[in-house]
Amino acid sequence: MTPKCQYPLCRSSVPQVLEEEKLCALHLIRQIDAHCREIRREALRGPLPLDRRAEINAYLYSQAIILAQIATSGERLPDETRPCLLSVFLNLINVCEKVARRSGEEHEKPSLAPLPPLAVAWPAAAVK
Ligand SMILES: [Zn+2]
Repeated sequence: MTPKCQYPLCRSSVPQVLEEEKLCALHLIRQIDAHCREIRREALRGPLPLDRRAEINAYLYSQAIILAQIATSGERLPDETRPCLLSVFLNLINVCEKVARRSGEEHEKPSLAPLPPLAVAWPAAAVK
């Protein structure tokens, strides 16, 4: 049986790639959008410390991976969800650039640890 979205009053199915989040694709996208707005506001208040930037970058990276999994899972997305998925990807890109730009204005270049390769973050992406 397909699990249902845990968002209040939503009865949409949860795609297999979102079983851990327990949200339908649309509500996950809305959640990511809300987090992006919070991050953007935080970045507007002033330069972010390196550890916070690393935390934000890790979050943005993980959400981008999840969105890519949704987009390429082969499960049918509702028509109204597709443009939202593309829009939130653009939002992630813009927020990532905003954080880097704002933080770069008053800090030296960060020495962030490299992100794990896609095959480590998502083993199913490894070439078989
Ligand atoms: Zn939902």
